[in-house]
Amino acid sequence: MANIVLRNVDKIYAGGVKAVNGLNLEIRDGEFMVLVGPSGCGKSTALRMIAGLEDISGGEIAIGDRVVNHLPPKDRDIAMVFQNYALYPHMTVEENLAFGLKLRKMPKADISKRVQEAAKMLGLEQYLKRKPAALSGGQRQRVAMGRAIVREPQAFLMDEPLSNLDAKLRVSMRASLNTLHERLGVTTVYVTHDQVEAMTLGDRVCVLRDGILQQVDTPQNLFEAP
Ligand code: ADP
Ligand code: ADP
Repeated sequence: MANIVLRNVDKIYAGGVKAVNGLNLEIRDGEFMVLVGPSGCGKSTALRMIAGLEDISGGEIAIGDRVVNHLPPKDRDIAMVFQNYALYPHMTVEENLAFGLKLRKMPKADISKRVQEAAKMLGLEQYLKRKPAALSGGQRQRVAMGRAIVREPQAFLMDEPLSNLDAKLRVSMRASLNTLHERLGVTTVYVTHDQVEAMTLGDRVCVLRDGILQQVDTPQNLFEAP
């Protein structure tokens, strides 16, 4: 696990849009930080810069004690979960969960142990032999999260992971995410435009507008002001 520190981070896209403007933020070790704000406020851009999927135009990002500005995503020891799941359709749930570990040439027995643990945590044990097409949306999103968990990364980065689910499922997945975070305690950065999601999930919530940080505080202090 590790903290994530953004120091005076800017992102200017080709064409001149300043998507992120002088962002200073520390996500503490083990913290669940939600980045929230209206569409276009720069939250995905901020997350993608932490992941290394987007170059930064100015400032510095550190994960643990390493400045990662010039590190490719695969060397950042993070796992990312997206709204579109990105599962391999031709592989079973078990194979999807194991795939990243196989690539890293982890011994089979260790892979199997991690896959079983993740499946148990996510309630996927009875679906291990199924392919994604035979799963519900919620189950697919659990598999996507399982793939992040098995890698045991220093941090989870999630970009609107529940936004393709219906309202009822979103509520149950929020509860699952809370439980998962309590059990694993992995530093998490979670992007959403949904205030309720921010409030139920975040240890702290960072509110962005037009690429500028407006407030960072606990949900209680932000949303239940007197
Ligand atoms: P959010 O995730 O809060 O919806 P984004 O980070 O996706 O916001 O976008 C922030 C701003 O940057 C928006 O004005 C958006 O149009 C712009 N933007 C995002 N991606 C690109 C890109 N690849 N090229 C140019 N502008 C972009
Ligand atoms: P759906 O079938 O509508 O997609 P869910 O994705 O919410 O429903 O749940 C899929 C299965 O996982 C259900 O059998 C549910 O009881 C079980 N489940 C849901 N949350 C958890 C959890 N946190 N831990 C273990 N099992 C769970």
